[in-house]
Amino acid sequence: GELGLEQQGLIIAHYGTQLAVEPLDQPGNEYRCHLRANLPALVTGDHVVWRAGADSTGVVVAGLDRHNLLSRPDSRQQLKPVAANIDFIVIVIAPVPEPYANLIDRYLVAAEIEDIEPVLLLNKTDLLNNANSEAFSQLLSTYQQLDYRVLQASTHQEHGLDDLQNLLDQHTSVFVGQSGVGKSSLVNALLPDVDARVGELSKQTGKGTHTTTSAKLFHFPTGGKLIDSPGIREFALWPMSKIELAEGFRELRPLIGHCKFRDCQHEQEPGCAFLQALADGLISATRLASFEHIAKSFTETS
Ligand code: GDP
Ligand code: ZN
Repeated sequence: GELGLEQQGLIIAHYGTQLAVEPLDQPGNEYRCHLRANLPALVTGDHVVWRAGADSTGVVVAGLDRHNLLSRPDSRQQLKPVAANIDFIVIVIAPVPEPYANLIDRYLVAAEIEDIEPVLLLNKTDLLNNANSEAFSQLLSTYQQLDYRVLQASTHQEHGLDDLQNLLDQHTSVFVGQSGVGKSSLVNALLPDVDARVGELSKQTGKGTHTTTSAKLFHFPTGGKLIDSPGIREFALWPMSKIELAEGFRELRPLIGHCKFRDCQHEQEPGCAFLQALADGLISATRLASFEHIAKSFTETS
């Protein structure tokens, strides 16, 4: 059939071998597109050049450059791209379930290494009380001191959602965090009218019409975009070398290469730049302990 002129579009979903493309000037309109042969792998959030065909179909003819690419390890620990052009990884934590040790640092490392700005969001602030509020304010201040953005919200009390909406406006975000912290509740609060959210998507698994694990892009009515999938929500850190891990700790990164010994493990070696920075009070003991703990967890599992 006849194809329209080349135009720019945004990949908003995958359906098997086809892509859902949204014209840049018509957000919300979806065209089912085939891919021209020999294109590189394209993911949700990618900008493409495409041509419209009949009945909301089309052909993708080229992929455009990306700012960044969010990848996840698959079951064989191979990194697989899942979404592109992401501005914020919103790391959702809550008083209940309490974040396990090093959870936040693991997410931060992943975000730093993928070159995506992390935002720490404490949800369920209505569950803060005399027993836990001091620990959480200390936790948040550790990350504020490292210049990470920190937000607080309660989906139940509809508190803090305005600040979150303001931040997400004009940007593309993903939400990550352990099960039960309130990601679905947050997404439902921010996308009240969308009936194809991830929760609903997973319920359609039996129908076979959607690849439910693939990432979908949504528009917040208050501005900004969300890329969401069960896989992104369960995003976790993959094993890596100690040097690469240090790259993911923003206060350790500038110290890399400054230890006396090239193969320094930053544990007890003389002339270790990490230990010197700790002694000088430039880095926090909890973060350095977290670095060692995460590095150790990799050698134990491999
Ligand atoms: P997800 O697994 O991260 O998607 O978490 P859900 O959105 O399914 O929420 C898990 C549970 O936490 C549900 O029972 C929610 O009702 C509850 N929840 C979500 N947000 C809040 C909140 O702000 N305060 C409180 N107390 N509970 C919340
Ligand atoms: Zn060292």
